[in-house]
Amino acid sequence: MTQFYRPTKAVIDLNAIQQNLQMFKERSGKAEIIAVVKADAYGHGMMEVARKALENGVNWLAVATPDEALLLVEHEIEANILVMGHTPAAFIPVAQRHGISVAAISLDWLLAAGGATDSDLPPLKVHLKVDTGMRRVGVQAEEVSEALQLIKSRLFSFEGLFTHFATADEDRNELFQQQVKTMATVVREINDPSLMIHVSNSAAAIMHPDLAFDAVRIGISLYGIAPSSYVENNMPFTLAPALALETEIVHVKCVKAGEAISYGATYHCEQDEWIATLPIGYADGLLRGLQGQEVLVRGRRMPIVGRICMDQCMIRLPEKMPEGEKVQLIGRQDGAQIRIEEWAGKLETIAYEIPVNLTKRVPRTYC
Ligand SMILES: *Cc1c(COP(=O)(O)O)cnc(C)c1O
Repeated sequence: MTQFYRPTKAVIDLNAIQQNLQMFKERSGKAEIIAVVKADAYGHGMMEVARKALENGVNWLAVATPDEALLLVEHEIEANILVMGHTPAAFIPVAQRHGISVAAISLDWLLAAGGATDSDLPPLKVHLKVDTGMRRVGVQAEEVSEALQLIKSRLFSFEGLFTHFATADEDRNELFQQQVKTMATVVREINDPSLMIHVSNSAAAIMHPDLAFDAVRIGISLYGIAPSSYVENNMPFTLAPALALETEIVHVKCVKAGEAISYGATYHCEQDEWIATLPIGYADGLLRGLQGQEVLVRGRRMPIVGRICMDQCMIRLPEKMPEGEKVQLIGRQDGAQIRIEEWAGKLETIAYEIPVNLTKRVPRTYC
């Protein structure tokens, strides 16, 4: 393994992922788990997460892009792989060769993909995406029969049928009910028991286990993160957060009352204050909007003061502490905890954005 000298690192607990997987298995009954490992497994490391999932009985991995699918193939990850987003025609023979399943996202796509297939290779495995209300990709419900004709007349193997919810993470709502109803109609109309039908993301799998069909696509909560505060407040089981972010104090000094800290001199010490410097900044994913966010040192919360720099930031200590002292930015320390959801609240965004913004410079280590 590459050695890193800077103490800043993300520690991924693969057992937490295993535990979350187990929860979803129990909740989803006979349905398969499709582990969503797009975007480098939401920043947790695609290969490590994929291997852990496969070790634990998962047969399906889902990614967003053809390149992500190919990365799994190149690393000899043996699983069924589904590309959920758009697959360009140029990738079609590659998908055929490697047995990668792809989403059929429109009638035009079916035509183009049909024209791009290579008849010397096995048929292209497709999952028909139905746009039941997300309005992103997918055929409209009225186009389904035409899509079926196209699928039958081309070098395709019709493997799956799916849709995606726009509001599964909110309180019971009309759009969600509407999407469920539209999908139910499509499923009835197609009436093909050989198809793998999957509709649920994490939020739907948590809140509506009755909608599991043949498989559920679990992304964010595989990593122990709640899809929204609504789901978090109504969780029927506990999620185990998988990602921790740590560093160490590299410099400590007493800054005099009235003196300012960091770029823009936005923070002034009210009294003489012990200020520590941490070797982590916005180029690592500690976004500038996290100024004021607390970190844990010795299990106690201390604020980030002054502007966050590209590679460093400062925190205020209650008393002098030594250099080398462990700092937990995300995760548990001595009974205290800072969760990704807390960062999301501070940044006024969703938790999804946090781990995918931890950059390559932050080594991922596994426990
Ligand atoms: C990303 C994605 C998922 C996973 O959603 P989570 O909310 O992270 O569980 C499922 N389905 C599709 C189509 C997606 O793009």
